[in-house]
Amino acid sequence: MATFGEHLSDFYRAAKSKPDGLMLEIGAGGESLVAYARVGIVLLLLLLPLASTLFSDAPFESSAGAIGVLIALLVSLYWLKLTKQEPRPRWLSFATTASDITSVSLVLLLLIMVNPSAGGNSVVTWLCYPLCIMTTALRNDIRVTWFAGGLAMLQFGLLMGYLFGLSSESLFSVEYGTVELSNAIQRMILLAIFTLSTALIVYRMQRLVKISGTDNLTGLHNRMYLNEHVPRLIEAAKKNGSPLCLAIIDLDFFKAINDQHGHQVGDRALKHAVTVIRERLQPGESLLRIGGEEFLYVGKNSPDMARLQLESLRRALADSHFRLDDGSSKQITFSAGLSAYPQHGDSLSLLLKAADGHLRLAKQGGRNRIVTEQPL
Ligand code: GH3
Ligand code: MG
Ligand code: MG
Repeated sequence: MATFGEHLSDFYRAAKSKPDGLMLEIGAGGESLVAYARVGIVLLLLLLPLASTLFSDAPFESSAGAIGVLIALLVSLYWLKLTKQEPRPRWLSFATTASDITSVSLVLLLLIMVNPSAGGNSVVTWLCYPLCIMTTALRNDIRVTWFAGGLAMLQFGLLMGYLFGLSSESLFSVEYGTVELSNAIQRMILLAIFTLSTALIVYRMQRLVKISGTDNLTGLHNRMYLNEHVPRLIEAAKKNGSPLCLAIIDLDFFKAINDQHGHQVGDRALKHAVTVIRERLQPGESLLRIGGEEFLYVGKNSPDMARLQLESLRRALADSHFRLDDGSSKQITFSAGLSAYPQHGDSLSLLLKAADGHLRLAKQGGRNRIVTEQPL
């Protein structure tokens, strides 16, 4: 169990850094969910001014609310359209968050201008700030949460500054009572608490995603990442007409290492192989652990380039020296089956099936080799 200090330094690190690709992808899914939810919530919010018009005697708040909600509906439909765009703009989460917070502030400003005590004391409109802050959790990026909280506090603070600059008589109305400074300060503190709690939720979510998507022996991404990430790479390759290669890499005679030298040496040998391969990967290439001593190479390159790279990785591993406990060294090799989009299929399962067939041929052909095609 981690100590409070460890949690704190981990949280500090996560809170200021850009999340990795997997987190951003999960966040992109969240952004799209938020975009649909925003349209739904805005439609529901339309009921509030409606109800207020029908059942209360505060027509100012209801008409200001209705105008704000209608504008928000148009904006939310625009954000929904943008979330479907590929590639998704990097700034989208910040922009949608800023627009959510600012529309709440605009409604409050409208209320203040029409009836200052309504703007200062309206609970329903103010509650939309915490709502916006909490939904940043779905973006899976703590920086967006800080941004939302900071912007809400800044805008709310400015509005309150403006409000308290007005004459003291206008801060009272029969329907909404008197606007108190202590009430505004309490709301400011609550916004800070909502921001911090949401940031903690995102931090925890990121930790869980990391644990479930990472293999703890080698530090490589695992099968969860494969199913989450690789289909998106295939979709992107289809969309951009760019090549994509997958190769299943399987260590040769690995059972014999365990049998002869024990499982611990086997673990060390596995880590050694991963280190040799990983050090030589180029930008656009990645390695996942998809089974015991099976790995998936993913390269955004042509079959010829991928084959050349795999050949050089194969040679590098075969030439490396894995030290046994008695000081002697042992050769470790791998066999690989390569498949390419679009030549061998246009889905993860088809590409894996082709790569697996080629791997079988590489093993049958004597191991320590790469196979890219079925023989004619
Ligand atoms: P081949 O060349 O046909 O692939 O032979 P192989 O011995 O590598 O194949 P097989 O599938 O029979 O054995 C794989 C072995 O890898 C079995 C298992 O004990 C070992 N292995 C899988 N994961 C780990 C691990 O995390 N640590 C260790 N030490 N061994 C592992
Ligand atoms: Mg195997
Ligand atoms: Mg093997």
